[in-house]
Amino acid sequence: MFFTLQKIEGFIINVDDFRDDAALLDQIVDELKPRYKLVFASKSGTDFSALRLTEDDVVVAESSFEKFMYQNVLRRAITKMGSAPSTTVFLCKDAGSLRSAHELLLGTILMHRHSVAPLERLKIFQQFPDFLVQDLEDLRVCLSGECLGFGGEFLAAPEGIFLFHEDDIKYHEYPLVPNLEHTDCPVHVAGRYFSPSDPRYSFHALSNRILHSKKNPGAQAECFAELISLGVWVATDGSFDAITRVPSRPSKVDRLALYLKAMPKAERFKSHNFYPASIQPELLKCPDDYPKLTTMDFKSRKTAVKGAFSADPQVEGKHIVLVDDVQTTGATLNECIRVLKAAGAAKISPLVLACHPYTLQSLGLSVEQEIPCGPCDSHLIGKCNSKTGEPFFGCANWKFNDGINHAYKTFKDGIKTKMMLMEPHLLQLDNELESEGQSF
Ligand SMILES: [Zn+2]
Repeated sequence: MFFTLQKIEGFIINVDDFRDDAALLDQIVDELKPRYKLVFASKSGTDFSALRLTEDDVVVAESSFEKFMYQNVLRRAITKMGSAPSTTVFLCKDAGSLRSAHELLLGTILMHRHSVAPLERLKIFQQFPDFLVQDLEDLRVCLSGECLGFGGEFLAAPEGIFLFHEDDIKYHEYPLVPNLEHTDCPVHVAGRYFSPSDPRYSFHALSNRILHSKKNPGAQAECFAELISLGVWVATDGSFDAITRVPSRPSKVDRLALYLKAMPKAERFKSHNFYPASIQPELLKCPDDYPKLTTMDFKSRKTAVKGAFSADPQVEGKHIVLVDDVQTTGATLNECIRVLKAAGAAKISPLVLACHPYTLQSLGLSVEQEIPCGPCDSHLIGKCNSKTGEPFFGCANWKFNDGINHAYKTFKDGIKTKMMLMEPHLLQLDNELESEGQSF
């Protein structure tokens, strides 16, 4: 959630990842030390002499339990840093430790090796750090604000909540996620989707909007039309023949078709001189209802959607941009790709509004950061205005005409309040778990 940070004060670096690359760690330290507080975290007792660090710089796992429970090490590192977790960024080289960091910190950067196999890359994307950088130069770029990470997350957020000014931002990322079924059709992803049970949900305007769009697609059409327009530009450099979408089941509102139809009015559609005639949702059809997929596993989803779609013969020889909303297993998207290919499409560029990273169901953040309503016993949660679609913080217990004047905060103020609540002293160690763990 890097982009919602108001200020970066410090870095926690997972030092175990740099065991074999002391030179790189040295360069990172030289780069960051003049501007930020640095604390190093280790769960495995790395030999620090090779890394030019003193034992004082490093927070090491104290017990065998902490080696499993990396979160505890991070909690101690955050306390040692003394800055609020909302101003602290976690830097690692191996995606494995990101999960613990996500539950405690709002900023994560993964510096990965230059070439990774598609399967490993897919694993990285299941953890979805805020930034994926390859080298020191990339790290500089993401700290300068020249690139603001997930383009869709940026566009979905209300103005004024960013660490960086829009003028400084030169580009946005729509990261390319490998597609294991159709390897020639990797997927451009606008952002991440966190479900409401994930502690990151309430900091995340794109997730708020996506959830809201399931019942109010019209209210989000303007925002998503911008987001898709920018994505089409990033994915194709402006060279494509038609934009279509994964059709919804006939019994449902075709949300994606609504967003596509709103595109000609989008600023980013006009500024890139796209042709309104290139918007062709009708190129893909879903004539019959297929079963609801949400509760199915990967294999059953694949079987359920097989043969559900049909493609217009017009797609032959064309470069088609295929838009979908939230990608979970990719079963519907891949079935649409199969049908488009069978109809002779020359090239397909899939683009999704968001991808599901691993869901976190942490008690930590969600309990500590509740904003009380005041007039009632409940607390404020992320919501969207049903008319304008704009995210805000409203009472979880709000009911129409109940006579209570429930509290309200703008998205920006709500996030500020939540961040102020994220103080290091609130990050208690898991002592209870610790003693349990040692008895194993
Ligand atoms: Zn209330």
